[in-house]
Amino acid sequence: MAKCAFCDANFETGPGDVLLVCSYCGTAQTTDGVKFKDHYMIRVHFDQHEAQTTLVDWISKQLGAPEDLNVGAKFVKYEQVWYPFWISRVDAHTEYQGMGRDANFHNEWPQRRGAYKRIDFYWKPESGAFTRRHEINIAGVKDIDADVRSHPIPTRAKEYFSHAHAEEFDGKVLHSNMTEDQAKKLAHQIAHDRQTNLVLQEVSKIESRNDKIDVGETFLIHVPVWELMYRYGNKKYKASVSAPTGYVIESQYPRSMTFRAGGIGVGLIMLLIGAGLIMLALDVLGLGPILAGGGLVSGGLLAIIGLVLMYKAASSKEAKERV
Ligand SMILES: [Zn+2]
Repeated sequence: MAKCAFCDANFETGPGDVLLVCSYCGTAQTTDGVKFKDHYMIRVHFDQHEAQTTLVDWISKQLGAPEDLNVGAKFVKYEQVWYPFWISRVDAHTEYQGMGRDANFHNEWPQRRGAYKRIDFYWKPESGAFTRRHEINIAGVKDIDADVRSHPIPTRAKEYFSHAHAEEFDGKVLHSNMTEDQAKKLAHQIAHDRQTNLVLQEVSKIESRNDKIDVGETFLIHVPVWELMYRYGNKKYKASVSAPTGYVIESQYPRSMTFRAGGIGVGLIMLLIGAGLIMLALDVLGLGPILAGGGLVSGGLLAIIGLVLMYKAASSKEAKERV
């Protein structure tokens, strides 16, 4: 529990929450009661009903989804969760010196242009610089699904956080487990790593480097996500849909009976053919050496693919929208 420094209300907090949002007045504050001003949100454009319709439409287009999903799916849980993210603009400039790999080519084959009889690789000193502006996005809660953590956030559409807007949809606004200072430190580290990756595309070994990394504008943004659960047949499936964009972050969905039966059937046939090839290769039937090692390999492969197909057909599917 915490006491709001601005409206005096008591509100719930959990272990590790260090930047709090009062659930009564919506003021973002530190545990010492200092107001945090750079607090933004992305507005909801898909209400619960629209999010569900978008999800069902999307799933219906997936391979093997049952045709009656729009009448057969019953939503049993829906919650709008507002996840906190720290966004930092980081200006980074890296000068580097290192060793790159290069090669000398000798004796081109006359018949094959571009092919050489001898190639000598050698190390060569290289230097250069990279200047980049990174937008670093860090989830403010540890307990967050990996797909929600990495889903695209349209930060350009940000506006100041409105408690009334979150309340309109009964949104659950999560506190952040990370302070502004911690977020900035981490953003600095991530920008440094990204610069390292850029340099390593140019040189294999970094001998020396000089980094100027400047963590600039940093703000907290709450992003609403519909956490949904629906029942189809006797099973339940989970899905996450972005409330601002209707983007399906991830969703489990059922496979239709015909699709499953087809997958299991094809898998079984491949398994049987594979087993047959293996038997021929090993000469189990005593027919003489019809197939050698190649039969063993292709038979084994077919059997494995068959098993995978059967497994895939039998399991429910997890799918994500492509960006
Ligand atoms: Zn308050």
